[in-house]
Amino acid sequence: MEKIPLEKLIICSECHTPHRKIRLKDAKTAYCDVCEHVLYHRHDNLKEKALALALATLITFLTASSFPIVKIEINGIWQGLTLPFVFVTLFKESFFVVGLIVSFLIFVIPLLYVVIYTFIMILMRWETGKETIRKLLVTLAMLRPWNMIEIFLISILVALVKLIGYAQISFGVSFWALVAFILFDIYLTKAIRLSDLWDLWDETFANRY
Ligand SMILES: [Zn+2]
Repeated sequence: MEKIPLEKLIICSECHTPHRKIRLKDAKTAYCDVCEHVLYHRHDNLKEKALALALATLITFLTASSFPIVKIEINGIWQGLTLPFVFVTLFKESFFVVGLIVSFLIFVIPLLYVVIYTFIMILMRWETGKETIRKLLVTLAMLRPWNMIEIFLISILVALVKLIGYAQISFGVSFWALVAFILFDIYLTKAIRLSDLWDLWDETFANRY
């Protein structure tokens, strides 16, 4: 029986059938021939595309955390709600553990994630730092499940719905930046798979030690 190296195989995440991974030339997407689930994509200019996208994601995140997401008026007083305001308030009210967890889930981890992603793509683009990228890709995989900023946006929207009728609400510039950030973030994590970045790493440093 023919032996196929492990890295040349890909397992369907839906039905767990192993397939031999080939370089796609004409097609853009490879499907499982058993259940037709997507196996992997071919990305043209992945280095440039992912770097541009990571930079855009970073800029929208910095915008989202610098200005008010919503402004709320109660009894004639306008209060702007910024991203850091949420966990700073929790700290001020002595909810230290909750404040710490929330600050990690909605601020530290999403920021760290996109900074590491950008750094990986910069190194990849300039074809340097093979070992550093390897470690950063592993870190990225560990951080990924803890990035919960979209849940934060949903909880803000739920809270705002409850406030309708009691307060005047206006969306700040950061609200739209946050929406844009989440869309970019979903694209970065869903459309470009981590395995695509590993493949890119392999290709980039194939002939280097
Ligand atoms: Zn399948």
